[in-house]
Amino acid sequence: MPSIPKTMRACVLEAYGKIGFRELAVPVPAPDEALCKIRAVAICGSDPKIMAGSQAKMNWPPAFPFVLGHEWAGEVAAVGEAVTGLKPGDRVAGEGHCGCGQCENCKKGDYTVCLNYGRRELGHRHYGHRDQGANAQYNAYRAKALARMPDSLDFAAGALCDTGGAALHGVELTGVTPGGVAVIYGPGPIGLCVLGIVKSMGSDQVIMVGRGHRLQTARELGADAIVDFSREDAPARILELTGGKGADEVFECSGAPAGPHDAVHSVRKGGRVALVGLYDDSAVKPLPLHKIVNEQIKIIGSKANPNVSDRVLKMLDKGVIGWRKIVSHRFPLDRYQEGVDLFVNRRDRVVKVVMEPWA
Ligand SMILES: [Zn+2]
Ligand SMILES: [Zn+2]
Repeated sequence: MPSIPKTMRACVLEAYGKIGFRELAVPVPAPDEALCKIRAVAICGSDPKIMAGSQAKMNWPPAFPFVLGHEWAGEVAAVGEAVTGLKPGDRVAGEGHCGCGQCENCKKGDYTVCLNYGRRELGHRHYGHRDQGANAQYNAYRAKALARMPDSLDFAAGALCDTGGAALHGVELTGVTPGGVAVIYGPGPIGLCVLGIVKSMGSDQVIMVGRGHRLQTARELGADAIVDFSREDAPARILELTGGKGADEVFECSGAPAGPHDAVHSVRKGGRVALVGLYDDSAVKPLPLHKIVNEQIKIIGSKANPNVSDRVLKMLDKGVIGWRKIVSHRFPLDRYQEGVDLFVNRRDRVVKVVMEPWA
């Protein structure tokens, strides 16, 4: 077994808005943890928000300096004595959430809404948010937050385990109507993953709402129709495309202030709307509650990616999720700030940026 160094290169958030690099101690895995060598870590839409300080109310991060990053894949470097089923060299992808395992929600499998959120002493972890993340050469993870990757899958694709998982969880909560119409708001990484998943589950017509180059990517990944909300009234266009009926399911993945409102106006009577974005409640356009009640519209909040990793990794491996068009950029971790700037400003046809700590 290759020896593990004492220190590692890490990208840290030094203060809100300030990225730096430090030589940190390589974590020592606890008995139920595996030390992992991080091969690829993707920038999530939430990372720039955490960096800017808009998630301070969630205590993300809990203190400075902090290592962000929760969408990653890599290799097991060492395991604690209580870990079974994983060994050094295994290729794994990580989940951001690790539940306490003991509360009512965790027992039901709903560990992304663990009732003991933030209680480290009970085993809860939220990597890259409350607990040290993957923007470094190594990190230690509780074994249950890891999923084995298919042998042939690229690490950059494995880093989409979290994103693809958030998409699959939202789809599982709403269900898909085979032969029906699905609308997706937001052709970002999650929305583009939803596209592949709902097509594979039998949606007959998938309509993507967005703007710019990402709409073209949606087209290339199989969207049957695209709607540019900057040029037309998206709900009106969707009603037109569905003969006045509206969609069976709407997936709101944009996180935009008008997203949930427009999603409700795009769904049929009795239809289902999944909210998968990260919203700023003070800015969100109010929902038409009379319509929601009168038309019995189900609105479902979907939190992260519980119990989906093994299946998502297979979907990435089989190309159901078109990760090659979603991962648009790869940089060495040293260029993190450049990656974030590109991602936030939507330059150079960016969709998803993957950083490589060992490049
Ligand atoms: Zn994420
Ligand atoms: Zn729990």
